[in-house]
Amino acid sequence: MMPSDSLLDALHGLVGQRGLLLGDDARPYCTDWRSLYHGHTPAVVRPGDTAELASVMQLCAARNVPVVPQGGNTGLVGGAVPSEAGDTLVISLQRMNRVRAVDPLDLTLTVEAGITLKAAQDAAAAADCLLPLSISSEGSATIGGVLSTNAGGNTTLRHGNARSQVLGLEVVLADGQVWNGLRRLRKDNTGYCLRQLFVGAEGTLGLITAAVLQLQPAIVESESAFCAVPDPASALELLRRVRRQDPAALTAFEYMSGVGVDLVLRHIQGARLPLPVRAAHYVLLELTTSRHKAGLREQLETVLGRAMEDGVVLDAALADTGAQRDALWSLREEHAEAQKRAGASVKNDISVPISAIPDFLARVGAAIVALDPAIRPAPFGHFGDGNIHYNLIQPEGGDGEAFLARADEMATVVNAVARALDGSFSAEHGVGRLKAGLMTQWRGGPELDTMRRIKEALDPAGLLSPGTLFHVPMPQVGLTVT
Ligand SMILES: Cc1cc2nc3c(=O)[nH]c(=O)nc-3n(C[C@H](O)[C@H](O)[C@H](O)COP(=O)(O)OP(=O)(O)OC[C@H]3O[C@@H](n4cnc5c(N)ncnc54)[C@H](O)[C@@H]3O)c2cc1C
Repeated sequence: MMPSDSLLDALHGLVGQRGLLLGDDARPYCTDWRSLYHGHTPAVVRPGDTAELASVMQLCAARNVPVVPQGGNTGLVGGAVPSEAGDTLVISLQRMNRVRAVDPLDLTLTVEAGITLKAAQDAAAAADCLLPLSISSEGSATIGGVLSTNAGGNTTLRHGNARSQVLGLEVVLADGQVWNGLRRLRKDNTGYCLRQLFVGAEGTLGLITAAVLQLQPAIVESESAFCAVPDPASALELLRRVRRQDPAALTAFEYMSGVGVDLVLRHIQGARLPLPVRAAHYVLLELTTSRHKAGLREQLETVLGRAMEDGVVLDAALADTGAQRDALWSLREEHAEAQKRAGASVKNDISVPISAIPDFLARVGAAIVALDPAIRPAPFGHFGDGNIHYNLIQPEGGDGEAFLARADEMATVVNAVARALDGSFSAEHGVGRLKAGLMTQWRGGPELDTMRRIKEALDPAGLLSPGTLFHVPMPQVGLTVT
């Protein structure tokens, strides 16, 4: 669709030259991180502050122009890019990236939505505090995106997901009104908890412009261990033992398959296995504390020593320095990049009750072998939260396109097992456009009806992120629901 001159003129009047990207400059904002979606937009609007964004939304409401909010565009479900129809404006929050306040006494950080998660972590650290949210994409992902997808990550096990960190929000509504809910209160039982409605809404109910996040005291001691385990049941037993020894210290418990680690060793320069022998299953665990002289190292050595005696752990490497810790974590963090370089992959982000993970892995593994033994399953993820990214990599030397053409078939296998075990088809990445088609099947009935009524109340004209969460048939690129 050709952009209307009068719309562009009006937008220009509201946000100026700096706040408007057109033509080739807008193109990078139209493709998602996975390169699955290639949309079109009349313009990317980059407001400089909340008042500008509010006036843009008033204009859009008056002219019935759909919009899609975008932060760092690292989302994995196609929710941040415009549709192929070319009628949706991209609202990029990237210029709204200021730290408004840090309060070490209240343990709060007030930031604008376009700040990256890494910059927000750094602002907390500069005040000797911790923002307990960490994901591999934190250098690009923004607080607005992280909250809108209710991101999980490596420390959810200890601190909860993004939702748990939010005390207050500022939101521009579909009609351009600004809701200032930037409260710093730990207790505030005054009606419906509106802020939690916007968290995880993937931009379908309003545009988050700022947030008050709750902080924790800075970490003073941390210990990390990379362990080879004989099987997923042993990983579960190790989790039980570590949690029992000091539940307050366990911060991360990540699982990696041998296939996934081998891909990292093969495709990521400088990656090195810290153990002498390769294994079929690994765990990366981390203990942290803000207490001085807490003796974490001793604790970890004791629990791992006993686990090795009992055959629960085959071998383990402990980090002695920050550099060694980073090297251990890079084996986990580089999974996404290594899989990208290994060819086509089908990604699944499921969760099941933690105790069901070994059963889940066994059942899906067998079903995939039955489908095609050449497919390479490389499951990994946040074992301690019951969240496994059951990614499937194309057969070695095979045809990537042909493999992707079977994506639905593979996703159906994975999702069926997750469902049989009372799981979810999307643990932390959200629904976006990619998985909107699954909502009726998984959340249909009163749950989806209630969501629709909330959507209709806050966005009656359906201008916010059309196609996200609520499936609307539209010309798409032969996509699959992975
Ligand atoms: C390598 C890699 C690792 C990842 N690891 C994790 C992980 O461990 N855990 C996890 O949960 N996710 C992970 N993700 C997914 C992704 O990084 C997160 O979903 C992240 O929270 C998205 O932030 P963003 O700023 O890039 O959002 P975007 O991709 O720009 O947007 C995501 C969604 O939020 C909406 N949105 C963005 N900003 C706003 C706003 N201000 N107001 C309203 N709606 C908005 C968009 O419309 C879209 O629906 C990973 C992604 C990559 C590429």
